[in-house]
Amino acid sequence: MSNFLHGRHASLKAYVPGEQPTDQQYIKLNTNESPYPPLPEVVAAATAEAANCHLYSDPKGTVLRRRLAARYGVKPEQIILGNGSDEILSFAFQAYGGPDAPVAFPDISYGFYPVYADLYGIPKVIVPLKDDFTVDTEAFMGVDTAMVVIANPNAPTGLALPLEVIAHICESNPGSVVLIDEAYVDFGGESAVSLLAGHPNLLVVQTFSKSRSLAGGRLGYGIASTEIIADLNRIKYSTNPYNINRMTLAAGAATLDRDEVCTARCAEIAQTRAYTAEALRALGFTLTDSVANFLFARPADGNAEGMYAALRERGILVRYFSGERVREYLRITVGTRAQMDALLTAIREIEHAN
Ligand code: PMP
Repeated sequence: MSNFLHGRHASLKAYVPGEQPTDQQYIKLNTNESPYPPLPEVVAAATAEAANCHLYSDPKGTVLRRRLAARYGVKPEQIILGNGSDEILSFAFQAYGGPDAPVAFPDISYGFYPVYADLYGIPKVIVPLKDDFTVDTEAFMGVDTAMVVIANPNAPTGLALPLEVIAHICESNPGSVVLIDEAYVDFGGESAVSLLAGHPNLLVVQTFSKSRSLAGGRLGYGIASTEIIADLNRIKYSTNPYNINRMTLAAGAATLDRDEVCTARCAEIAQTRAYTAEALRALGFTLTDSVANFLFARPADGNAEGMYAALRERGILVRYFSGERVREYLRITVGTRAQMDALLTAIREIEHAN
């Protein structure tokens, strides 16, 4: 830290992303990316667009927003694009939170929520998950904060709430924006987009990072009422109007052209998830019933940190969190069947050696 940093950031704990190592080839099961690369036509579209990079990108992302609007049955004015869904989250915290406008979210969820709150000086109302790691939905009814943020499915648990509950949370907090972070919805959850018509305070956030194989392209979007999207645009145009680069806009549109491939890949991941979960249970692990592209798994002895380190030595990266309630669990991204077989073989070796 330099002497120049403003005092308000002195105690800010920045988000720590999962490792993206460059020292060797790992089987990467630590950041919930897709194991499948973008389709050749997506790469071709992005490559072709690179030739136009002397010109700024379309700040409105008109073509892609139109495509997304058609895909989700909403108006283009109900969509905003972000540099990853992280940026949409950032816009929302800035738009609705403030020193006098707290934001509520579960204690165990996406680690970026408290970071945004702290960065923007927003008081946090942290609602503990129940002992079984499900969201304490009652506690979110009438919570009376400026915004409620719930990842559905939640991370790192992979557990999803039914849409009726989301609807209730919206209805019981009419004065709050209810942000539903659907980063993992395509792997087995139910999208709240269908609730938008009757719930003017709902903001649904999705991403191309997981189910559409574009994590490195950085493309996310929010869907909500035209008024909420106008609020978010006010923040976007006050920070970074050209937030999505030309290659990513082109890649996003080309990806949507082949959405059926993404859907088939998600189904494949769901099958591999079931296969891996069963094998891990047979090895003594305890797991939540994840509907996301990752498993939340506790080794029989609860020594998740030891298992993380032993897997790393064998070239397999998984995610370990040291937080009190989660430190006995690993978050394991579901990759290809071959990657999961390599994981299972490594775990058998590790268990055998102990
Ligand atoms: N929400 C959740 C719950 C996530 O796990 C992630 C991925 N780290 C994100 C949002 C952000 O993803 P991206 O910015 O790549 O869209």
